[in-house]
Amino acid sequence: MLQQRREPELVPNYSLTGDLLSFMRCGLQYRYQNGSALPPSRPVQMWFGEFIHGVMETAYRTWLASHPPFPWPCTPTPYNTSPAPNRAANDIGTIGDLVEATLAAAGKSPRSRNLRESAYERAERAVNEIGPELFPLIRSAEERVIGTRSLTMPQGARARAQMYELHGIMDVLSSVTVTATTNNMICNAVRAAVPNLPAGAEIIVDYKGSRRPALDDEYWTQGDWQLQMYAWLRSRQPGAAPVVAGVLLYINELAPSGISQLQREVNQGRTDVRPLSGSPDDYQLRTWRPGAAVPSFSAAFRLQRAIRIVPITQPSIDAAVGAFDNVVVNIESCVAREAQHGTIVAHWPAGGDDATCDACDFRHFCPSPASARSTQNYLPPAPSAP
Ligand code: SF4
Repeated sequence: MLQQRREPELVPNYSLTGDLLSFMRCGLQYRYQNGSALPPSRPVQMWFGEFIHGVMETAYRTWLASHPPFPWPCTPTPYNTSPAPNRAANDIGTIGDLVEATLAAAGKSPRSRNLRESAYERAERAVNEIGPELFPLIRSAEERVIGTRSLTMPQGARARAQMYELHGIMDVLSSVTVTATTNNMICNAVRAAVPNLPAGAEIIVDYKGSRRPALDDEYWTQGDWQLQMYAWLRSRQPGAAPVVAGVLLYINELAPSGISQLQREVNQGRTDVRPLSGSPDDYQLRTWRPGAAVPSFSAAFRLQRAIRIVPITQPSIDAAVGAFDNVVVNIESCVAREAQHGTIVAHWPAGGDDATCDACDFRHFCPSPASARSTQNYLPPAPSAP
């Protein structure tokens, strides 16, 4: 006998960066950014990071089509005016207009003129300093990866489904190309971190619109987990080769700010990339004082700080996958509690750090901004060390 047709089950669809990392940054901000619908309903607003991503991807396709020599010009359209005429296709201003229009169509715009200017400055450095090193290595750009995982809620808690879907987008390099390429900063860094690169393996790449975090910063760990999770997602794709390393590119390091923070981290031994003792970079950093101009660090130092290599193994993937399962369980628990009680504030964790709260649109009515809170930040349970 035919069984009665069941109602189709909703499978929550999560973006690794847009949902999971956003929730980890601050659960309450993530909830507010999702508007009136329960998450995940629409992508959160991360204009700066998405702008950098969009410019790099469009610049790569422009480079692939006609190989214009570097450096490329950058003449951005002035804030709130029409595009300047007669710019080349590889002008970073032209590329930026395209990316800004795409983001604007999704309701995303820069929060201020300063943010937009800073985005163009960093995008120009990213294209002209990282592009020549990275673009020739890319085997496949903007690979969309997707995977499903089962959702096991704690006793007594309910989720909307027994599975969740996770997706992400990454660029992929081949270990063969990385092994064979000499005089390339990214290849050198990958070979140093993973000395015996197996032939036929893959290396994944992601851009971060942020500075290189300190070693004890939660964002340092989260960056690692993100790449491990991308590697797991990649392994779900038919015919994909194993991923043995990930490259994170911290674009803000190319035009650095926050020099006092860097001074502190170097002095306290909390960063893995410091200027060579006695070098001009070292001198500039040691003698810099608040209010002075940003030091003109060498390209080698800035690139070294921008490039981070994360070795990827099966145990490290397993640990990260478990950590992100916990994040989804936490989000689903918040969704269920909000649905049951009909209120938001009490059921989503408010846990942004100082910088997140400073830039948060909801800080004026948030019951617990960083300034009014103890230092306790929300984090899912850490995975055991691989
Ligand atoms: S002000 Fe801070 S704690 Fe409050 S919602 Fe915004 S990011 Fe979260």
